This record gives sequence, C-alpha cells and structure tokens, in this order.
Amino acid sequence: MFDNIKILYHQEKQFIPDTANAKVPGIFRGRPVISTEKVDENSLVEICPTGAISGSPVSINLGKCTFCGECALRFPNKIKFTTDYKIATNDREKLIVKEGDEQPIEVNPETVRKEIHRVLGHSLKLRQVSAGGDNSCEWELGAANNVQFDMSRFGIEFVASPRHADGIVITGPITKNMAEALQICYDAIPEPKIIVLAGTDAISGGIHKDSPAVDRSFLDKYPVDLYIPGNPTHPLTIINGLVDLTRKRK
Ligand code: SF4
Repeated sequence: MFDNIKILYHQEKQFIPDTANAKVPGIFRGRPVISTEKVDENSLVEICPTGAISGSPVSINLGKCTFCGECALRFPNKIKFTTDYKIATNDREKLIVKEGDEQPIEVNPETVRKEIHRVLGHSLKLRQVSAGGDNSCEWELGAANNVQFDMSRFGIEFVASPRHADGIVITGPITKNMAEALQICYDAIPEPKIIVLAGTDAISGGIHKDSPAVDRSFLDKYPVDLYIPGNPTHPLTIINGLVDLTRKRK
C-alpha cells in the first residue's frame, strides 16, 4: 500500500488542472519567434522542406511548417521555437509569424460565426475524418480525450456517427480516395456545423501538397472555422483552439 501511495505522491495529479497555462517540456516546438537579425535570407528560405519560410521580411507560415526545427538549428540567432502551444486560430493570416512579431496566435471571437457561440458553446460533438492522415494527429486527437488532458470536461467529445456530430475534424492532406467519403460524412452532419483542420497536412497539404494523389477541392467549397497547426498537433493546442472557438474565454 505504501508503494502505491509513494507512486501517487510522485505523479501528483493525473490530469492537467489548467489546460491554458500548463508547462510543456522544453523540447516541444510551439510558436516561433523570429529576430530582426540580418541573415542570408535565400539560404534560410531554401532549407525549408515545405516552403513555409518567406523572405523580406522573414516569416514562417505555421500552416505549412512541419516543425522539423531545421531552420532554428541552422539559424539559431534568427529563429527560435517557444513552448507556446496556443497556436490555433480561425484566421489563416494569423498563422504567418513575421520577424519581430511577438503577438500570441489567437482565435478572434469577433469573426467566429454567431451560431457557433450560440448553439455549440456548451456542448460540441465532433466526427473525425482521417483523409490520408499518417495517424499522428489522429493519436493526438485521441490523447486530448484521455484522462490526462480530459477535453470532455469542456463538453467536447468525438462521436462515431456524423449524424450525432456538430462538426468535422479533418486530418491528413485529403487524398483522392478519401475525398468522396469526406463529402458524404460532411453532408450527414446537421446544421449548424463546423470544419476544423488539424495538423499541417490538413491545413496546407504539407509535404504532400503537390502529389497527384491529393484532392483538396472540398476546402474550396466551405469556410474553415478553425486551423490547428502542428505536425502532429499537441493535445493542448487542440483543446485550447476548440475551447476558444466555441466560447469566449473569461
Ligand atoms: S521548422 Fe518549419 S519553417 Fe523551419 S525548416 Fe522546418 S518546416 Fe521549415
């Protein structure tokens, strides 16, 4: 019995009491900070495998970034990744972090569709579609509802049937062979419904964006309500993004 008490004492709480202010390990790569130091911009732009870095001024598009860390490794005085995991937003432009930019990345409550706060503010059931995903973001979405992260305390849960869902969470670059299934699933969800893109592949196609096996035309038809960057996304990024989208954080 004393051994069990010792284990409980060392583990402390098995859930994260405050998901908005939790500490994550230093190796985690969250929101990048880009200094105004002059560097060879062409070399910096060229090392990025997904074209996430642009020059003049230097910026990183988190919708394209795979968080590989190569830019920070090669240009440590120019780019640093912080452990700020609150990087989900409803504004695609906010995913572009420019040099000298220290602003947090947030959901803008003014541009959230009115019915999202009104109808989905207290309970949000989501259907997840892995549209060519590699199972990494899918694991993290599952982890968001485990006992440690416990997303269901906010009334947010995944359901098996789209007919019981209020929205769809898409992972993966949306492959051709999943395009029709994604459309059928979306059509089965009653209004009002939201679309969430989780992970770099879903937001931009990632390293697969030019593949002939990808068909992203679904995203041309509907507005996206939330972008959750990461490769894969962190459960705390997922939870904070969904909570901020569905209700105004006090
Ligand atoms: S961390 Fe992101 S921006 Fe930097 S090289 Fe990798 S993919 Fe490009």
